[in-house]
Amino acid sequence: MKVHGRCHCRFVEYEAEADPAKVAICHCTDCQALTGSAYRVMLPAEPGSFRLLHGEPTHYEKTAESGNRRVHAFCPRCGSPVYSTTPERSANYTLRVGALDERHQLPPRRRIWCRSALAWSTNLDGLEQRERQ
Ligand SMILES: [Zn+2]
Ligand SMILES: [Zn+2]
Repeated sequence: MKVHGRCHCRFVEYEAEADPAKVAICHCTDCQALTGSAYRVMLPAEPGSFRLLHGEPTHYEKTAESGNRRVHAFCPRCGSPVYSTTPERSANYTLRVGALDERHQLPPRRRIWCRSALAWSTNLDGLEQRERQ
């Protein structure tokens, strides 16, 4: 399916093709730190389909436990994480589901790096619920 993404301030906009069956939650500690949250929800774009439509993201390169280097792109104005890619900016892009217009139609299908999952983040049933703040 075609997906459309943008950062919070709308400076960075992009589109891509992606398979909804590939949505995953990542519980790794890098994702926890880089999102400031309990986990990241991500979706790999189909190779070669990513198109940056507006804005120029800022990049931060991290080295994973595997030794692989990964470039994390975020908006230089509002700081929203928008995608990750390889240092060579190859066709390999991973999108951040929370930044996609179609996110309601993109439920996760798998969880990875569960060994570092925050135990409290895996079951939100039973928490007090409010429609707004
Ligand atoms: Zn922005
Ligand atoms: Zn991760």
